Amino acid sequence: MKLNSIKLPHFNSAADSRSTGIKTPDRVMISMAQHGGVPCTPIVSAGDTVKTGQLIGTSDAVLSAPIHSSVTGTVTEIRKVINVFGKLHDAVIIKTFPNRELADDIKPPEIGSREDFIAAVKKSGSVGLGGAGFPTHIKFSYDRETVHIDTLVVNGAECEPYITSDYRTFMEDGDKVADGIRRVMEYLDIKRAVIGIEADKPAAISRMTELTANDDDISVMSLPSVYPQGAEKVLIYNTTGRVVGKGKLPSSVGCLVMNCSTAAFISEYLKTGIPLIQRRVTIDGNIVNKPKNLLIPIGTLLGDIISLADVRVQPDRVLFGGPMMGTAVYELDTPLIKTINAVLLFSDTRKYEQTACIRCGRCVNACPMGLVPTDLEYAYDKRDAELLKKLNVELCMNCGACSYVCPAKRALSEKNQLSKLYLRELASKYTKRG
Ligand code: SF4
Ligand code: SF4
Repeated sequence: MKLNSIKLPHFNSAADSRSTGIKTPDRVMISMAQHGGVPCTPIVSAGDTVKTGQLIGTSDAVLSAPIHSSVTGTVTEIRKVINVFGKLHDAVIIKTFPNRELADDIKPPEIGSREDFIAAVKKSGSVGLGGAGFPTHIKFSYDRETVHIDTLVVNGAECEPYITSDYRTFMEDGDKVADGIRRVMEYLDIKRAVIGIEADKPAAISRMTELTANDDDISVMSLPSVYPQGAEKVLIYNTTGRVVGKGKLPSSVGCLVMNCSTAAFISEYLKTGIPLIQRRVTIDGNIVNKPKNLLIPIGTLLGDIISLADVRVQPDRVLFGGPMMGTAVYELDTPLIKTINAVLLFSDTRKYEQTACIRCGRCVNACPMGLVPTDLEYAYDKRDAELLKKLNVELCMNCGACSYVCPAKRALSEKNQLSKLYLRELASKYTKRG
């Protein structure tokens, strides 16, 4: 069986740009909400001096990852902000010093067991760098008595237009990707790994094939260059043939999925002990003269990133992430967080008028999850919770493929997002009443 998918233009002009670091910004704003789960609480106060890599935010919640300072400087303020995903949380504002000094406790972790490894990954602040932001240590902490993982699926599909940060990770840090995969397999006792890379990145496929030539248990798979190849369930199916059921996790079919950049980070952390304080970001868009990849400290403000972008005109639309699943950003004072793999700058973007559905069925043929977006739209417009559930709206991963192909420009994916929020609100109302 072949899953539905769509073809997208790639616009990957930054693919040949070797990543470079940037001058440390004068000021950073480090968000306490950089992961799926509960935001952290700052453990520093205004007036404190912090060093690079110092722990500045923690949480006792299970689903959370610690946050570290990406710079050396003075905390000037702790401020409540609303992030791009609408979450109110604390942010730590730091005025940077010219010289960087690493935090005193930074050293490579000592690892003798699975538990040590998971504790080290937790301490590193690692989250899924592909965009989902799920804390990595939680993914690794499955109960070995009840969950049997036999395959590590490494996500190198990078299927959204413009984004090339994972590709550059393969090309520049392929040895770290391979080492990170080996470490995860070793400490979690996973027997095999498959690295999935889209076929339109032959250099990355060759490089990883070469770097893992002596690893009989690691294979590199060339995948069709279609969207959304990098979606977790799609990737698992296309690399292993296994189907993750409704409401189930990849672990239910023996798989653990990890982004290639996360693998590279884990390798680096185990060698240096430097936590997740910077990331590779693609800077591109239709007004960028020289698309590129930059290594940017977490907390760098959007305004500072735009100033590095060499744009022809001022952008009228800015995205964190790709054009299919990214988020529009409106404030120059929005900080880079761990999950953002691209900053895309556009001008004169086309505005579309929504018209009536012509029943062409393209949205149905585009959906990799076998959903019927027209029926889902109808159910949402009627606020019919039972019908939404019956139509499996929870399976929608908001990939945007249905909206993209719709000639009537209907906001199908967006309505599914709203439908899921609607069902959650209803459920929480019932819980409160009950
Ligand atoms: S956004 Fe949802 S309904 Fe639309 S194609 Fe993607 S998974 Fe299917
Ligand atoms: S793609 Fe658009 S016009 Fe075609 S059936 Fe779906 S909603 Fe209707």
